[in-house]
Amino acid sequence: MNKAVFLDRDGTVNEEVGYLSDLRQLKLLPGAAAAIKRLNDAGFKVVLVTNQSGVARGYFPETFVHKTHELLTQMLSEEGAKLDGIYYCPHHPRSGSSHYTRECDCRKPATGLLDQASRDLSIDLRTSFMVGDKWSDVELGQRAGCRSILVRSGFSHDDPGNVRPSRMKDPDFIAHDLAEAADWVLARGAGQGA
Ligand SMILES: [Mg+2]
Ligand SMILES: [Zn+2]
Repeated sequence: MNKAVFLDRDGTVNEEVGYLSDLRQLKLLPGAAAAIKRLNDAGFKVVLVTNQSGVARGYFPETFVHKTHELLTQMLSEEGAKLDGIYYCPHHPRSGSSHYTRECDCRKPATGLLDQASRDLSIDLRTSFMVGDKWSDVELGQRAGCRSILVRSGFSHDDPGNVRPSRMKDPDFIAHDLAEAADWVLARGAGQGA
């Protein structure tokens, strides 16, 4: 079984711009590619998990999500970093008026994206990590049985769109950014086969 580091996208790997809808808005956060490369080199599966409800809301088509992920993959590869998988949820339970507007099991903090990745890539969730800038990312990690790291590189933690659920356990670690999160993960051992 593999160990993974699951990464939220916006505000964790690239700048949070609020419904990224133009490829020119895609900018890697400082140190993010180097952090991913260090996790690759240590034998972790590195897997992107992102809510893209802009599709359901009609802000951009699903093909735009694919284009964004092609460009993100290219930008990372130019710095020697690689994602082992990219999983996204295009849905929203209420907003929009298409077949994407529905309850689903993949919108974070539901665990569908992690469950799918763990089947596809033989990942043991209990030895894996979830890193993200929102409390919903922390909640996802906790629900899935991963260790959870909150990064401070995206949404501010008192933003009305990022409210901490009541009675939620603390994250396992709070990091300035992905580089510091990777340090913390790597201090707890290597991934598989490294
Ligand atoms: Mg985010
Ligand atoms: Zn979904």
